[in-house]
Amino acid sequence: MTVNGRELDDFLDWEFLTAEEELLIAARLPDGSELELEVERELGEPFGVELEPPRVRRCANKCEFCFIEGLPQGLRRNLYVRDDDYRLSFAYGNFATLSNLKERDVARILEYRLSPLYVSVHATPWDVRKVLLNNPRVPNVIEQLERLASGGIEFHAQMVVVPGMNDGEVLEQSLSDLWAFGEAVLSVAVVPVGLTQFSHLYTGRAMDPGSARSLLRHVERWETRALAERGTRWVFGSDELYLLAGDPLPTADHYEDFAQIENGVGAVASLRQRVTDQVDDLPRLDGRRIGIVTGVSMAPLMPELLDRLTAATGARFELLVAENSLFGPTITTAGLLVGADITRMLDGRADLDLALIPAESINEDGLFLDDATFIDVREALPMPVYPSYDFADVLSAEGEPVVYRAGVAVAG
Ligand code: SF4
Repeated sequence: MTVNGRELDDFLDWEFLTAEEELLIAARLPDGSELELEVERELGEPFGVELEPPRVRRCANKCEFCFIEGLPQGLRRNLYVRDDDYRLSFAYGNFATLSNLKERDVARILEYRLSPLYVSVHATPWDVRKVLLNNPRVPNVIEQLERLASGGIEFHAQMVVVPGMNDGEVLEQSLSDLWAFGEAVLSVAVVPVGLTQFSHLYTGRAMDPGSARSLLRHVERWETRALAERGTRWVFGSDELYLLAGDPLPTADHYEDFAQIENGVGAVASLRQRVTDQVDDLPRLDGRRIGIVTGVSMAPLMPELLDRLTAATGARFELLVAENSLFGPTITTAGLLVGADITRMLDGRADLDLALIPAESINEDGLFLDDATFIDVREALPMPVYPSYDFADVLSAEGEPVVYRAGVAVAG
């Protein structure tokens, strides 16, 4: 298939090549016949064309800390796909290492101005990065970023830090190298390595509170410098880093535009802010007993939020902290809880009028990571159960019918 004489490879070509007002679309149909269409349309007018999902570019690395290598056996197949795809980095904010980038890919990024990209840098010294990505053929990321930045491409970077490998001087060098890119590097997230009980490749040390505190001190030094010189914090510790270090999490204004919230940077501050913004508008729910299921890492942060919800609504909240039965006790994130965890926490609790579970633990097909469906889990429990992002999304609709749609509880 071609658009204005240029061959289409994927959704990017379609998006960018069809951005004209006049198009000549040529295609060979499955029956072998040729089709040619001359199309005129107003700019921005949708085509109504549905594209097949792209074949995801696979990762050529074998990082010891790879979360996918740390998945247990027997999950649905698509969870084991290790993508490393600059197209998904641009389109959806997935992080890519750029280590499988071909010359043609670079040319496309520059031609289509695929910016910003989300790049897993981890370390800028080439030798360290080869070890971290467990791939001796990894290109020099500094040279890659220089070439792309000179063509106007901007980046959000993440550094997943392995103690003894890319902390200390390597982290300092890496931040310094990224700083030297000026405005092209928009933000940097410092994220502690996360392992499951199945991370069989990993030979390094686990992140402990002392290592986490030391990383936060690097972050703070760079924040101070960046604020003074560029008026942005630029580098951000992930929520997990603060929790591991035992340091208080910053408030929402710390995170500026929350550029890396999908990467767990500022998610807690955002939740607190959303509760603050909505708590006064919640209906009275006096006497209702409401179970809140969460993961271990959120447990210490919840009482303060639940106290505020109690004061505003009169409901009695019970915090139900679930260990992750699939990934093991080192995985404490609420969004990775599985159907079996929800069932274990709520089974037999007919004394609860309502239960809220983390909406992030369910995908858009209504599936938990252990393949249990939300509908099945909910129907087997003795109380109404709703996925919730910030409590207020469900509580504000109490008294109205609530339906479940694509992982979100909404008023029906
Ligand atoms: S880059 Fe590393 S962590 Fe990411 S998918 Fe590949 S092997 Fe896994």
